[in-house]
Amino acid sequence: MQSFSFTQAKTVDGAVAQGARYVAGGTTLIDLMKLDVETPRQVVDINLLPLDHVETAPDGGLKIGALVRNSDLANHPEVKTRYTVLSEALLSGASPQLRNMATTGGNLLQRTRCYYFRDTNYACNKRQPGSGCSAQDGFNRIHAVLGGSEQCVATHPSDMAVAMMALEAVVHTHGVKGERTIPLNEFYLLPGSTPDKENVLEPEELITYVTLPALAAGMKSHYLKLRDRAQYEFALASVAVVAQVDGGRVQRVRIAMGGVGTKPWRSREAEAVLEGKAANERNFRAAAEAALRDAKPLRYNGFKIELAKQAMVRTLTVATKSA
Ligand code: SF4
Repeated sequence: MQSFSFTQAKTVDGAVAQGARYVAGGTTLIDLMKLDVETPRQVVDINLLPLDHVETAPDGGLKIGALVRNSDLANHPEVKTRYTVLSEALLSGASPQLRNMATTGGNLLQRTRCYYFRDTNYACNKRQPGSGCSAQDGFNRIHAVLGGSEQCVATHPSDMAVAMMALEAVVHTHGVKGERTIPLNEFYLLPGSTPDKENVLEPEELITYVTLPALAAGMKSHYLKLRDRAQYEFALASVAVVAQVDGGRVQRVRIAMGGVGTKPWRSREAEAVLEGKAANERNFRAAAEAALRDAKPLRYNGFKIELAKQAMVRTLTVATKSA
């Protein structure tokens, strides 16, 4: 991958600072502009930046340019063979046409699919801070059971980000203050009282690439997504597992969930239950119970709690069986 020189994007910086938005694949931004949910003053096309390659990093990990298309990443030989969970997550998302357009950076920055966020006839604190949250007393079947607040209970829609969370990805950015590296686990924000602020990016800051650490020998992974239909649908509950099993015991495991949290949800509680324990269904169930212990159901989404638990047991079973 060519090194990224931000002088190429100097005018981009200025434009973004004045209220413009970057656009790459356009699969989120253009969609929301058609709905009048996003109304940027200017749109800056970043597709010519040299950020469309996947490379093996010196430490044996992977360096993924922000403009690598989801379909290219899912089918990259290194991803298919070594980072299976990422390939599976990408291929479970959207449609082939959308995956051909959507980029790595854009996927991380997907906006929620909350119906009320996408319909300007309804109050939504994320779209218009202080206006209220229509989902609290509305039809909240697809909303979050983890990480919500009185201000917002919207889920993060990305499958890719859930897999990357389990892979302990690091986001690399470039802005007017220079370059930053941000562990993905610290990239997303809980809604709290500012649900319009979804991540730690500054307004003019651009994701340049994502790195995945090398996986230890014998580590296997799996992604399972449960949804209302088999294709072209967002997760009601999903689980990504990266695990190393030796002698029937879980030596190391990383677990993340999608569809249930207000951000891609790493469960250190579940990991703590499992590490050093026998890889069996009883311990998998105990891990799932720990992962959902703090879940708070809304009127219509209580089913997600058991769904996520069963998804976790199933994903752990598959990931550790092949390990
Ligand atoms: Fe808006 Fe969040 Fe409430 Fe949905 S859940 S209406 S995105 S504030």
